[in-house]
Amino acid sequence: MSSTEIQDPTATTAAAPRTIDVEDPARGTTIRSIPVMDDDAVASLAARARVAQPGWAAAGFEARAEVFDRARRWLIVNGDRVIDTISRETGKTYEDASLEQTVAVQSFAFWAKNAAKYLADERVSPGSPLLVGAKVIVRYEAVGLVGVIGPWNYPLVNAFCDCVPALMAGNAVILKPSEITPLTALLVEEMMRDCGAPEGVFQIATGDGATGGAVVDVSDYVMFTGSTRTGRIVMERAAKTLTPVSLELGGKDAMIVCADADLDRAANAAAYYGMLNGGQVCISVERVYVEASVHDEFVAKVTAIVQKLRQGANEGPGTAEVGAVTFPPQLDIVRSHVEDAVAHGARIETGGSEGSAPGGGRFFQPTVLTGVDHGMRCMREETFGPTLPIMKVADVEEGIRMANDSDYGLQASVWTKDRAKGERIARRVEAGAVCVNDAILNYVAFGAPMGGWKTSGVGSRHGANGIRKYCRTQTIMIKRIAPRKDINMFPYTARKSKLLGRAVAMLYRR
Ligand code: NAD
Repeated sequence: MSSTEIQDPTATTAAAPRTIDVEDPARGTTIRSIPVMDDDAVASLAARARVAQPGWAAAGFEARAEVFDRARRWLIVNGDRVIDTISRETGKTYEDASLEQTVAVQSFAFWAKNAAKYLADERVSPGSPLLVGAKVIVRYEAVGLVGVIGPWNYPLVNAFCDCVPALMAGNAVILKPSEITPLTALLVEEMMRDCGAPEGVFQIATGDGATGGAVVDVSDYVMFTGSTRTGRIVMERAAKTLTPVSLELGGKDAMIVCADADLDRAANAAAYYGMLNGGQVCISVERVYVEASVHDEFVAKVTAIVQKLRQGANEGPGTAEVGAVTFPPQLDIVRSHVEDAVAHGARIETGGSEGSAPGGGRFFQPTVLTGVDHGMRCMREETFGPTLPIMKVADVEEGIRMANDSDYGLQASVWTKDRAKGERIARRVEAGAVCVNDAILNYVAFGAPMGGWKTSGVGSRHGANGIRKYCRTQTIMIKRIAPRKDINMFPYTARKSKLLGRAVAMLYRR
């Protein structure tokens, strides 16, 4: 299809002008409405992308890295706008929103620097006597069009940052942001234009789940981040066209606190990594197991910290620690997990109900629960809110058993002053990443894969696979010693067969 035949996606949208209101969850106001793109609109985006992609791939790594170097500076220069946009549509505090900007600039720098290295041609040893003298090369080529579908909790990091390696590999990308938080994506589209990304290389498909489905249909690869439930639907849909997918899904991250842990550090970390971003982090601490001998002391320390947390809308740096509940139905989930726990005998140490803040908005109080067990929803289902259920365990063995008693396997953390013991425990926990004496921050070790086990995901982001997955691999074998005829070629004769048989036996008998 030539570029002149491509429809204008906004024109298609004008024919079906369904819109979604984007809300400021910390204030309860509507910010603006965005169009819901239908199948035709997404197909038009795809057609544009396919026209633009070959030139972008041909431009080379250096040219693409320059775009991301400019984007990195753009994100810093326009920091206030970026933080304000993220904060307004998610209800994040200033610090939680600026964390996204911090992680994004590191991501841009990482991929600009390392993409060429990860995608360089590789020489492979032929490893067979039949290939003596042959040269074997493995090369990576962009798949073409990557569809990235993102969640609402990190509209910059868990949506656009997965586009960065796809673009650096030479792909065109269509990003389908969450319908709850599309404004950051639209700002990023402006950034990419300002920073020199050619038209059609990076586009946004605003809309809901149906729009996401259309993006799956037009893509050569789908990178999805969201709930396990939707991940299954996306994988099923992609299977119809045999489109490969990477799924970054839900989690129920366990924290194991050993009796020999630095309890002050562990308590500070539990409060921070449990309540960061209002607990709406796929890799936040969702459940804590503490050895019995230090349980009460740990609970007292955590509760004292959580009680002091201030909740509210972003009124600038340092004005609140815990922001709003971004997604309306999430409030019901959080409340129901707390109610279910209490109904089954749990105790609320602090918090426990809907919060309030000046200016209205949707909040849940930072909550610490004790006396919990695995019969309760708060220990088995993803809560995705500012709650921290803490369970007493007899010993580390029980802690490990409980941590592994989950359908999820995204991340976990182990807390002990004995680092070797911490590592031994980490190796037994069934999760894609385990931190010892830290949590979450492995995310910014961009050279290491981040992906879930069990129902927490398929594939991974970051590291070599984080960019190679957006490529097709091609093996090229070049025969350098090329006689008129090789011994394995026709005709078959008894003499040649015996000779070959003896050679194989000689080489592989031992
Ligand atoms: P969600 O699954 O409801 O939605 C995610 C995205 O999928 C949205 O853009 C949505 O519009 C789209 N979508 C919905 N139905 C679709 C369909 N049928 N086909 C294609 N796309 C469709 O998730 P959410 O509520 O936005 O995000 C919260 C979830 O994301 C939590 O479970 C959290 O743990 C998870 N998450 C995981 C990671 C990770 O790295 N593992 C990171 C962030 C969030």
